Amino acid sequence: PGDAVAVAASGGKDSTVLAHVLARLGRRLGLRLALLAVDEGIAGYRDAALRVLRAAGAALPLPLAVVSHRELFGWAVDQLGPALGRRSRCTVCGVFRRHALERAAREMGADWIATGHNADDVAETVLMNFLRGDVARLRRAANEAWGATNEATPSAAAPWPTVPRLKPLRHASQKEIVLYAHFLGLPYASAECRHAPLAFRGHPRALLKELEAARPAAVAALAHSGRRLALGAAPGAGAAPGACGRCGAVASGELCMACVLLAALDRGRPKLALGKRGL
Ligand code: SF4
Repeated sequence: PGDAVAVAASGGKDSTVLAHVLARLGRRLGLRLALLAVDEGIAGYRDAALRVLRAAGAALPLPLAVVSHRELFGWAVDQLGPALGRRSRCTVCGVFRRHALERAAREMGADWIATGHNADDVAETVLMNFLRGDVARLRRAANEAWGATNEATPSAAAPWPTVPRLKPLRHASQKEIVLYAHFLGLPYASAECRHAPLAFRGHPRALLKELEAARPAAVAALAHSGRRLALGAAPGAGAAPGACGRCGAVASGELCMACVLLAALDRGRPKLALGKRGL
């Protein structure tokens, strides 16, 4: 009670349902809620979703703040084509979005960031990181499948602590979320980003759908496996995070991931940075 929660909202079904549920609970619990959206700069997609979100925010009613990639980083996702070629935009887009949410939530004075990830998303992320052999992200996905968040880490080294994240819908299936929105008549944007076909995530998503058709419990079982994983420490793990030398965000290296990518984009060499960090 009394905590300030920034609800990461996109105008899509998950965050629309999350905002609706939290607005109902928030009145009972005395939560201070605000919607926080990131405009990645994808014409015909995010601008349309933001129109839906503005209407939804006004109906709840909840205040809405919008931050944009172009404003914060000088790059809209639609401008990445010449720099990335056929490479997926999603790594840069996702890293920038995470950074933007974090920074804006902190500036809003939020105690928590709540995101709309559902059980299908959690299972997909666990599967995707298995398929990529990405142990560090698998560990994070497994922790997040438990509902653990990145802890607030105020330290002398990092001038701004991370805002802990919540995934209140992590046990709700995509179908339940669609049904909730349908029966309550909640409007949401359902168009797919045109850059999504380049993303590797599409493969585990398609595989998961096939697995679910053969065995409906597969999604819940995969998320459960994520929660039960006992992962060994990754090489180099254990070092206390420090502060990014450029922006001051918490970083495991000299620079945070957003600043590594931004520096590479500004030098015209993003492909090198993506390869170097194993992204
Ligand atoms: Fe960004 Fe990729 Fe999602 Fe499009 S599909 S919004 S580029 S992360």
